[in-house]
Amino acid sequence: MNRQRLKRLLQKKGVVLMYHRIAEPPTDPWGLCVSAARFEEQLQVLCKRYKVISVAELLDQHARGRLLNRTVCLTFDDGYLDNYLYAKPLLEKYGCPASFFLPTHFIGLRQAFWWDELEYIFLRAEQLPAVFSLAIHQQPFHVELGGEAILTAELRQKLETWSAYNKPTTRRCELYYEIWKLIRPLPHGQIVEAISRIKEWAGIKVPLEENELPMTEQQMRELQAQPLFEIGLHTVTHPELSAHPAGIQQEEMTRSMQYFKDKLGAPVGTLAYPYGRYNNDTLAIVKKLGLSAAFTTFDEPVTKRSDPYQLGRFQVQNWNGAEFDAHLCRWAPTWFNW
Ligand SMILES: [Zn+2]
Repeated sequence: MNRQRLKRLLQKKGVVLMYHRIAEPPTDPWGLCVSAARFEEQLQVLCKRYKVISVAELLDQHARGRLLNRTVCLTFDDGYLDNYLYAKPLLEKYGCPASFFLPTHFIGLRQAFWWDELEYIFLRAEQLPAVFSLAIHQQPFHVELGGEAILTAELRQKLETWSAYNKPTTRRCELYYEIWKLIRPLPHGQIVEAISRIKEWAGIKVPLEENELPMTEQQMRELQAQPLFEIGLHTVTHPELSAHPAGIQQEEMTRSMQYFKDKLGAPVGTLAYPYGRYNNDTLAIVKKLGLSAAFTTFDEPVTKRSDPYQLGRFQVQNWNGAEFDAHLCRWAPTWFNW
């Protein structure tokens, strides 16, 4: 074994886990959903083999240069109602701390997030027009859906098993992915406008799935009132920060900070970058605003050398206890592997 690897194994490290939804939707191209039953299995593994600590405690250990092995933090992004309905009671049952990063524009909105609407249209709609012919953000699309206009059992199976990390297997997947990629960096207003034109083209009403909605202000207050939980920033409109000028980035952060100050009467000092994306402007702003830490989506553990504004997180998928345990061992290997 070389010295580098040995050093890496001996270095103390904490693991920050990233969750999004506690749900079982029919499609999940980004692997963001964990069922409530699987989530409970994962909590059981954590309670048995690890120590779950709060983000505040991790940051304190990091600041003192005294990280401990076998420590894990739980984080949830986007503020879905299912976090409140399913994650909260299970976290309370097992006494596990967690942080919730909420984009403030969406709190209490009776509308699904734009990325879920896009997913519904292309990956779940029973019927679509035969031709997709629209210009999105000045880019013309002309795609013949042909046989894919109707959701057959065979097509449904392909859409439900496709992962966006792999090559698209159908024209619907390809369109979904191309449009998602094209509109993600746009200002929120333009994204909403593009989605509304796509809905108009599809001629369908995207059903309001209760669980798919963001949580309400009251539910956010209940999370805040529970000492196990912390609220974190996830900007206002969930922009891809690195695609926007510094002025817009700063506004997204200061307005979300002000929102929590007004609603919760307490400052919120940690941030998760939407889509894990940021640039040098973002880093300068988070430091200037005096945030204590910011999380990325880079899958690396936190060590005493980690930059507090570029802390890694590992995305948890819908794994059973054994699969989850195997991932944890890989994510934070140690000399004895405990
Ligand atoms: Zn997010």
